Amino acid sequence: MPELPEVETTVRGLTRFLEGERIARIAVNRADLRRAFPPGLVQALTGATVIGLGRRAKYGLIHVNRGQTMIFHLGMSGRWRIDPEALGKHDHLVIETGAGHVLALNDARRFGSVDLVDTDQLDGFPAFMALGPEPLGPGLTAKHFANAFENRIAAIKLLLLDQRIVAGLGNIYVCEALYRARIRPDKPAGQVATAALGRLVIAIRAVLEEAIAAGGSTIRDYAQPSGELGYFANAWKVYGREGEPCECGGKVARFVQGGRSTFWCPKCQK
Ligand SMILES: [Zn+2]
Repeated sequence: MPELPEVETTVRGLTRFLEGERIARIAVNRADLRRAFPPGLVQALTGATVIGLGRRAKYGLIHVNRGQTMIFHLGMSGRWRIDPEALGKHDHLVIETGAGHVLALNDARRFGSVDLVDTDQLDGFPAFMALGPEPLGPGLTAKHFANAFENRIAAIKLLLLDQRIVAGLGNIYVCEALYRARIRPDKPAGQVATAALGRLVIAIRAVLEEAIAAGGSTIRDYAQPSGELGYFANAWKVYGREGEPCECGGKVARFVQGGRSTFWCPKCQK
């Protein structure tokens, strides 16, 4: 599933082909993904010029010069294909730029979504209204966590997955960040010391930025005809490594929290 770093690298990859470009043609090849494509999407964007791209949580943003923004979510399996040799049956939305590049939003399982909103109304987009601060933005601080966690007895890992507390963090990155910050995933959030919350902010940013950098190294391939935006492998320290040794001499363990696997080291996470 695409997580925040994959969405960020996707947006950066798309920026190279879209920013400042005219949308010469846009087509949708079916009525819906997870929900219907917005009515009037094709008419609204045909001939428009892309003035910038961005990201909010796990949503990509494509801003055009008509005061509107196309919002896309990659769902479980979505990816953008750049200049594919041939369009496939899962290329559900296709953009052709003035420069002649073809960008196809491919989503085999169709859990993704596309929306069109007025750019000055972005904050009112339902999925954005209750979002906490961006993990890579200035709003995420130890103080923010201290306020959000005050008197909370829920496990810190579960609260880190709550998008109202911090936007866009998924299971893998939460496991990895708690490991780096040496915090037990099942510790009641309200009992985590301020110093540990400071380590957590640094750890969250580090795991995301390293993943983005790793994705960035694959972006070089994107200009090739078979190039795809969306996925890359990472070397996780604990995620998916149950039973493997930790650098501390302990062993990576797994348990289920809120229906998802938590990977951690019982020896060095306190
Ligand atoms: Zn350890």
